[in-house]
Amino acid sequence: MNNDERIHLLAKELIPLYDDLAADTRLVVEEHARTCKICNEELRRFNATFAPLAAKEEVEPNAEIKPFKKLQAFKALMVGLLFLARFLLIGLLVAAFDPAAPRLLGGNIIMFYFPLAAASLSILYFFYRKLWFWVLVLFDVFILFFLDEVIYYLLL
Ligand SMILES: [Zn+2]
Repeated sequence: MNNDERIHLLAKELIPLYDDLAADTRLVVEEHARTCKICNEELRRFNATFAPLAAKEEVEPNAEIKPFKKLQAFKALMVGLLFLARFLLIGLLVAAFDPAAPRLLGGNIIMFYFPLAAASLSILYFFYRKLWFWVLVLFDVFILFFLDEVIYYLLL
């Protein structure tokens, strides 16, 4: 038995295990298959049967993970925007603060901040983990009940 025949024998045995072979062993098998009609045919058949399966296995978990990650990113963005909207509104209310009529601030907070808080909290309640809902509830309760006192304390 010469070397080519030995390699042919080994390659034929290894082709069914092709997916589990080390990279350099695969190279030896492929090199041999280029010059050996039998092994070339074997390898082609193996790839036709198993390669699509392997490719499918690799794609499917990604297909599940990607939309999930996108959803998580979207949710994080929404929480960020809800906070941003609050800070913008608080900024506007504080900027409009008139020391000559300080008690207007409390009314403005209820009139403008409360609808924003109620709307965004009801969105959060249905779509988010409860953690973010309660963080924002605490934040809004603080703003609605104590922001005017804080502003009076700081500006008057
Ligand atoms: Zn061969």
